[in-house]
Amino acid sequence: MERRVTKKVFAGGLAIGGGSPVSVQSMLCAPAHDFEANLKQAFRLKDAGCQIIRASVPDFEAVRLIEALKQVGLPIVADIHFDYKLAIEAVAAGADKIRINPGNIGGDDRVKAVAAACTARGVPIRIGVNSGSIENDILEKYGSPTPKAMCESALRHVGLLNKFNFDDIVISLKSSDVTTMISAYEMLAAECDYPLHLGVTEAGSGIEGIIKSAVGLGALLTRGIGDTIRVSLTDDPVKEVEAGFEILRAAGLYNDGVQIISCPTCGRTKIDLIGLSEKVKERLKGIKKPLKVAIMGCAVNGPGEAREADIGIAGGDGEGLIFKKGKILRKVPEDRLFDELMAEIEKL
Ligand code: SF4
Repeated sequence: MERRVTKKVFAGGLAIGGGSPVSVQSMLCAPAHDFEANLKQAFRLKDAGCQIIRASVPDFEAVRLIEALKQVGLPIVADIHFDYKLAIEAVAAGADKIRINPGNIGGDDRVKAVAAACTARGVPIRIGVNSGSIENDILEKYGSPTPKAMCESALRHVGLLNKFNFDDIVISLKSSDVTTMISAYEMLAAECDYPLHLGVTEAGSGIEGIIKSAVGLGALLTRGIGDTIRVSLTDDPVKEVEAGFEILRAAGLYNDGVQIISCPTCGRTKIDLIGLSEKVKERLKGIKKPLKVAIMGCAVNGPGEAREADIGIAGGDGEGLIFKKGKILRKVPEDRLFDELMAEIEKL
């Protein structure tokens, strides 16, 4: 897949755009003044593989949270609305990236001051346009938050920063409507070369939220658009990170760790395939090495269907076959399948 060519910016040591791997980010959701809870959550996100952490900075006390989060060792993004002084303070406190819309901070001198603070420390700015927060004049022009309206709003914010020679920009155009969000990013991708932060906003929780994000982000990523992603879920942010990596994996942009290829089972299945698949998934969680493991319900189609897998099993009647790259190794009784599969995986 050809990725869209973009400018490269750096959030701390992490490159965004310019051919860098698509990064997965999340946002802390503990109360901004509860530093302990935020730190705990940030470390859990790090353990889950999160690459960029964003934190809300609603007031000056929360600026100290940015300082505290530096110990996590990941790039920290300060999320700021309206107050340019908070942005400057957050940069001074060590934020690696700022999320702020320059059109909302009240005048050129303030934009200039934020741009200067970010330039001095090499800190990029993400302009985050949401369909719900488009300027009134643009809304009047388009009648509703259409993709064109979102693009125009984003480019207006960009213009304000460019005026002060600031060009380390990342843009997001979030909407809770998936098709609007896809069209908006496509339009913007054709109009500028800034890296794009993808997200479906207010996606909801559970399966609905994950599917909305997967469709929106997946449609863009498979067309080469998108440089960093956030899956927004009304849930534990660790789940956002897990979903983010699975979306990247499905889009062919991430290959680390174990990928389970398992069949949906059918009338031919004569072993507890669902239980076995869950057990294997649990045991192999956290492994970084790229590995495809097939768990198939029957020997008729199993090894053939999972030819691409490094190792796998195909169930029979109270027994199963272990196979490697589609080639059968041996037959094993059902109660030994899990252990023998694990033993084979150890050998890889
Ligand atoms: Fe059915 Fe076998 Fe296909 Fe699984 S692999 S769905 S058991 S035919």
